[in-house]
Amino acid sequence: SEQGPLLSIAGIEVMYARLALVLRGLTLRVPRGGIVALLGANGAGKTTTMKAVANLLRSERGEVTRGAIHYDGARIDGLDASDLARRGLSLVMEGRHAFGTLSVEDNLKVGAFSRRDRGVGDSLDMVYRYFPRLKDRRLQAAGLLSGGEQQMCVIGRALMARPRMILLDEPSMGLAPLLVEEIFSIMRQLNVDEGMTFLLAEQNAAVALRYATYGYLVESGRVVREGPAAALAADPEIRASYLGLD
Ligand code: ATP
Repeated sequence: SEQGPLLSIAGIEVMYARLALVLRGLTLRVPRGGIVALLGANGAGKTTTMKAVANLLRSERGEVTRGAIHYDGARIDGLDASDLARRGLSLVMEGRHAFGTLSVEDNLKVGAFSRRDRGVGDSLDMVYRYFPRLKDRRLQAAGLLSGGEQQMCVIGRALMARPRMILLDEPSMGLAPLLVEEIFSIMRQLNVDEGMTFLLAEQNAAVALRYATYGYLVESGRVVREGPAAALAADPEIRASYLGLD
């Protein structure tokens, strides 16, 4: 397992309410130390893929009906979030869900819930180093943060579990372009400095392909194209349909 991909999704099908087949044999791999982008239009199945990995489908009456998901060599379909966190897999789901009435710092501490070690203070310092804005506002209620700062807070909370890999769903959603760049460049820094691996679902293909190492394009629940990010960004069809260029 040391040589294989860190995350491997093999031919999964996902069905909602036993009747809507939303993923139709989706396969992808995330190498250790990679930043892999999952691209596609609204409704293509990106969020469903993330939820399948994080085992969050059940509350929406969804289930993986075929295929397998492996993380670090072990089968993980069916494991819950705290088990995944202990294995080093954290996720940041679409939409921002900081606990509004808790302070920024307490929000971050919540992210360390699955840890039994004494390094939580070091992780807090690490989060503040990457997100100095959170340090400035650490005693403020998270509900008073701007949208971008809340996104940072939620990413910071995921970092508090000291993950090896983070699933990031639509980090650019609803954010001004400058903030999107700020958040993506922090992701790249974490990748370079800490060796953290990312799977990134992103409708904004232009930005995602500038920061990712590799990408998969999803249409109707299947991968229809994959390749190194630079090759995808140069692909005429992707340029026309997803980057608004020709
Ligand atoms: P978005 O960017 O809008 O999140 P996406 O690529 O992430 O798009 P999904 O959210 O995975 O797409 O949705 C894929 C398909 O599954 C869509 O057609 C959607 O309507 C459908 N879907 C999502 N959640 C459910 C659900 N709980 N029950 C039934 N169908 C669902």
